[in-house]
Amino acid sequence: MQIKLSFLGAAQNVTGSRYLLETDNTKILVDCGLYQERKFTSRNWDPFPVQPRNLDAVLLTHAHLDHCGLLPKLVREGFRGKIYCTDATSEIAKIILLDSAHLQEEDAKFKKRRHERERRRGPFPQIPLYTVDDAKAAIPLFSPVKYGEAIQIGDGVKAIFRDAGHVLGSSMIRVEVSQEGETRTIVFSGDVGRWDRPILRDPAAFSEVDYILVESTYGDRVHEAVADINDNLAEIINSTHKAGGNIVVPSFALERSQEVLYYMNQLLIENRIPHLIVFLDSPMAIRITEVFKRHPELFDEEMSELVREKRSPFGFPGLMMTQTSDESKAINHIVGTAMIIAGSGMCTGGRVKHHLITNISRRESTILFVGYQAMGTLGRQIVDGDKKVRILGQHYPVRARIEQIHGFSSHADRNELVKWLSSLKTSPRRVFVVHGESESALQFGKFLGGKTGWNVSVPEYGTEVLLE
Ligand SMILES: [Zn+2]
Repeated sequence: MQIKLSFLGAAQNVTGSRYLLETDNTKILVDCGLYQERKFTSRNWDPFPVQPRNLDAVLLTHAHLDHCGLLPKLVREGFRGKIYCTDATSEIAKIILLDSAHLQEEDAKFKKRRHERERRRGPFPQIPLYTVDDAKAAIPLFSPVKYGEAIQIGDGVKAIFRDAGHVLGSSMIRVEVSQEGETRTIVFSGDVGRWDRPILRDPAAFSEVDYILVESTYGDRVHEAVADINDNLAEIINSTHKAGGNIVVPSFALERSQEVLYYMNQLLIENRIPHLIVFLDSPMAIRITEVFKRHPELFDEEMSELVREKRSPFGFPGLMMTQTSDESKAINHIVGTAMIIAGSGMCTGGRVKHHLITNISRRESTILFVGYQAMGTLGRQIVDGDKKVRILGQHYPVRARIEQIHGFSSHADRNELVKWLSSLKTSPRRVFVVHGESESALQFGKFLGGKTGWNVSVPEYGTEVLLE
């Protein structure tokens, strides 16, 4: 067997997913993600470890930026093959890549102006990592595949995509390599979703695999029960309504916003909250919600039934999608209680900042966090209980009620990862633990090895292994 696997990202860290699989005649990249952790972002500027033009194909697990965000650069530097992914992933990735390119351009302009003013140079060139035109050039290379359909990539290399249950269209990918009458299978887990989540189906199971790459974002943790989301949400809405304030929900555009709508719809159907106006105030989340509406074939049983009964969470009475900034500004004049779902999820930019300005000093309003808040972000300052915060250059006292609902994770925790792996009927030759911070990846590797006796390793950035 002549198979080489190189770990070019998300190896003892979380972002920048990128794995290179080389057989005697085929080179495939699985994911081509952007590094987002500050201490690794310089790797985004490094030349690709393989000539992009020599790659035969990219297999893309899903549309999160840390999995697809470096595709425009790959194409600009010569890649001309196909980018295989599900239809929904390609539609969402287009939205996300164009937005990312726009931000890259803005960021470069901003830094250039600042450095000129301060008469200094930064560590990276004052040009965007890639432009909107670069992102547009990548779009025609997307080549949609269906779950379960085998695609032939090179001589003796096949790939099958299966549902990962992580975000809409997300995949786990099984690659099969045949050489001289022998076959080896390699599964790339992508991001492993969870069982019994709203809207999405459960993660797919694999019964026989030679090699597995498994993510470990929450490999050292066990999530709290999700059963309480509805109760917590109902309590927060009812008491904020009684107080006469608004509920501001900083939210990510993909999956989390749609999940919040799902729970709101549920509470309204069950008559557990008053009929209030819910604004989805994020052009990106609105576009992504449109992708959800176009792909009912990806929904789980409960969600399909809601759609059949014309009780879709994307069209309940009182739901307003505010596209333009004028519509967004008009929200300030609403009398009575409204829920405002807006980006960005960690309050680092976007329309949510304006809604925070209007609500954060009002005792009767609630700021409700439904996602992870990274160190150093405005969202983190607020959940950490800062009494005063700076938003768009001005200081505001924090008087609103601050709440956090934790059950919303779209990544499997330690026990759920083990559950996913336990669908294997025979021991794999080797398991590689990836896509987790060192501590989490190493802990999960140890836990899994101890529990199963399998050959488990936790590769570092740049590790190359020959698969036999
Ligand atoms: Zn993801």
